[in-house]
Amino acid sequence: MIAGFKRTEVRRGQEWYVQPVSEHQAQKEYTCPGCGRIVGVGVSHLVAWRADGVLGDTADLGARRHWHTHCWRIS
Ligand SMILES: [Zn+2]
Repeated sequence: MIAGFKRTEVRRGQEWYVQPVSEHQAQKEYTCPGCGRIVGVGVSHLVAWRADGVLGDTADLGARRHWHTHCWRIS
């Protein structure tokens, strides 16, 4: 489950939905696409997916990626 305020940001010329994930909501491990390392359980981070809808909303949601907050900011 994800909560918090969804927002949009532009990265590399593409628009993305970005949503924060709190420590309590982080209950699985993910691989961060920014650094290739694990986003651990209980680590607040954010999830991003494309907002331009090229693939359709369902496909875009399926392509969500979990990022370390720091890695997203410097990407
Ligand atoms: Zn990372």
